[in-house]
Amino acid sequence: MGRKFFVGGNWKCNGTFDEVKKIVKILNEGQVPPQDVVEVVVSPPYVFLPVVKSSLRPDFHVAAQNCWVKKGGAFTGEVSAEMLVNLEVPWVILGHSERRLILGESNEFVADKVAYALAQGLKVIACVGETLEQRESGSTVEVVAAQTKAIAAKVSDWTNVVLAYEPVWAIGTGKVASPAQAQEVHFELRKWLQANVSPEVAATTRIIYGGSVNGANSKELAGQPDVDGFLVGGASLKPEFIDIIKSAEVKKCA
Ligand code: PEP
Repeated sequence: MGRKFFVGGNWKCNGTFDEVKKIVKILNEGQVPPQDVVEVVVSPPYVFLPVVKSSLRPDFHVAAQNCWVKKGGAFTGEVSAEMLVNLEVPWVILGHSERRLILGESNEFVADKVAYALAQGLKVIACVGETLEQRESGSTVEVVAAQTKAIAAKVSDWTNVVLAYEPVWAIGTGKVASPAQAQEVHFELRKWLQANVSPEVAATTRIIYGGSVNGANSKELAGQPDVDGFLVGGASLKPEFIDIIKSAEVKKCA
């Protein structure tokens, strides 16, 4: 069975209530391929999660942008996986490079979060990716393999994991990875899963690309055999997000 195309929109720390309502309207009115062709998940900031969840079309789902590493309690400012489950938020993004680099989340800490969130019944978009310095020194594959290895050490069931390859140098910079660059790393990640987890997990786990995806470049990226979708930041707040979702059609024709 093929891997269903996946498009995630990461709204990050953006938007007023009015702006959020506007983007939800655009999403709700957008003509996109059916759910058996593409899975769409948008990730508003925590404070907007309930309102987006209740006003969003039923074929699109929501994700939190983070959650606490273990059971909730005396952790001021954090939101627990249990709370997300309680609010019926099905997805969470973990290990985004902005959290790894700005907030100092290590590979092990991210892996603990992924394992805990999965154990609570959440589905996880787990992000990996190299910095420009790491790419230029030739260590891209080593870096993403180490990030994935930390997760694999703590996770045995990959059914509810989507792996997002997001080169740090491409996030929010307008510098998108070329289709060949994305395909190369996705291929290596799949090879890593095959050798270190299982051929089944390698064949079924969706590996999505993130980093300056937009309405103009998404089709060509989607045409790469190991690119199973996207995690989109800036363009997910614009009408062109609908065009990005439509790039799933490329797989149907492949
Ligand atoms: C992201 O935040 O995950 C991302 C990929 O951002 P952008 O699409 O803006 O590069």
